[in-house]
Amino acid sequence: MEQLKIKKSFRGGMKLPKFKGIPDANITDYFSLPALVVIPLRRGTGAVNEPLVQVGDEVRTGQVIACNNGEVATPVHASISGKVVAIEKRLHPTQKPTLSVVIEGDGRDEWMKTAEEKRAWEDRTSEEIGKVLYEAGVTGGGKGGFPTAYRSSEVPPEQIHTLVINAIETDPYLVANQQIVLDKQDEFLQGIRILRRALGDVVVLLGVDVKDQGLGKPLSENAKDWPWLTLCPLRAKYPQGEEEILLGTLLNINLPGGKTPVDAGVVVQDAAQVLAAYEAVALGKPFIERTISVGGDGVNSPRNLKVRVGTPIRAIADELAPNIPLRVAMNGLLKGVYVKNLESPVLRETAGLTLLTAYDDRTPFYFVRMGLNTFSYTRSFISLLPEKPVEPRLRGEERACLSCGYCIDVCPVGLVPTYLARYAEKKMWDEAQELDILACIDCNLCSYVCPCKISLAEQIKKGKRRVAKKLAKEEAAQAAVS
Ligand code: SF4
Ligand code: SF4
Repeated sequence: MEQLKIKKSFRGGMKLPKFKGIPDANITDYFSLPALVVIPLRRGTGAVNEPLVQVGDEVRTGQVIACNNGEVATPVHASISGKVVAIEKRLHPTQKPTLSVVIEGDGRDEWMKTAEEKRAWEDRTSEEIGKVLYEAGVTGGGKGGFPTAYRSSEVPPEQIHTLVINAIETDPYLVANQQIVLDKQDEFLQGIRILRRALGDVVVLLGVDVKDQGLGKPLSENAKDWPWLTLCPLRAKYPQGEEEILLGTLLNINLPGGKTPVDAGVVVQDAAQVLAAYEAVALGKPFIERTISVGGDGVNSPRNLKVRVGTPIRAIADELAPNIPLRVAMNGLLKGVYVKNLESPVLRETAGLTLLTAYDDRTPFYFVRMGLNTFSYTRSFISLLPEKPVEPRLRGEERACLSCGYCIDVCPVGLVPTYLARYAEKKMWDEAQELDILACIDCNLCSYVCPCKISLAEQIKKGKRRVAKKLAKEEAAQAAVS
């Protein structure tokens, strides 16, 4: 194994301050078996799967309950044993109603028996391993999916030349990835070999936090005979863990807007997916539970939890933050989605839940004393301090842009958020496209640092949707002509 001497980083971004309620990375508990699970039939960007069960059917843990053989998708499994009580549209954490299978548990957790595989995984071909990964539901992670011969990505595995493993989290509340590498190093390293074999023995880059002192040495010892693996120390600055940023930092690849890493021949997987790959291929276990970080100032004892996919978020909130009005973010404070309906479930893609106490104490005229007294990033106006910590709560009202340029400083992909938001607001789609609005990775940093509290990222997100629609229409019209 090679280890890069230089600590890599990228332009822009931000080291976020420590907030209250950061999970204790050393603690990982099993969350109790849920009484009911809601399992959406869509994974990531893939198509909605066709249900293979009906209301009233008895199912076992690990049983395939939906799959789709025509389009890019990943099979879906029951995460508990029990009875199917509904197949209907339920609210996804992103607020989109999504076809879901609802299972009422029988408390027995009886597993589906799978055909016993006597051969060690090392004796299997890459296609055989790809099949297991696909059938176990491991292939839906990462933008663009994980390429196998089984419609798990638009790109075939032959086009992949590099596998990037992300063991770094830069959101303060997400710590499970790093912990998996420390606690389960043997399984994690085997998982890397399994994924590499499935892709046809590609080059592997492993991105870790430079501060993870305990990591580098054992990794180098365990993987000393693997010339194909490079350990890449990275500065833990938000949003380093994003796929587009990892590609730029490690491989100097700048993805054009609307493209995913697999289009550039690179697969990016996080530590939880690597572990899931190990469990699927070496232990025959489908991807029905994952370790998530549960933190936030509303949580009594912030920690990592092993949770069954489909567990309603309310069940976790009721246990860890009982009787507290909450705002809940899934997958990070900045980048994550705010979950409005707590009945929506934990997904295979859930890396963490941040439970923040709800507030109603906005101070309406705070902005008149901006600079010295507000929680703000600004160095403009009369502030004598070089930089002030940012507080994620909205203080003061939105006001006109003062051209401080902080949104431009922090944008990790070199955009000009203030113009993009203005173009989006005024529906100037051509101009927004020209300034590469589609390259925005929705990191939300621009909104976070804006001293004028302008919801830049939100407007840019809306603008992106419209520009993407416009481009799709133009492409369809061009295809019709030719
Ligand atoms: S424009 Fe997009 S990528 Fe740039 S800071 Fe804002 S949200 Fe992040
Ligand atoms: S939009 Fe906000 S951060 Fe950007 S230049 Fe204007 S005031 Fe500064």
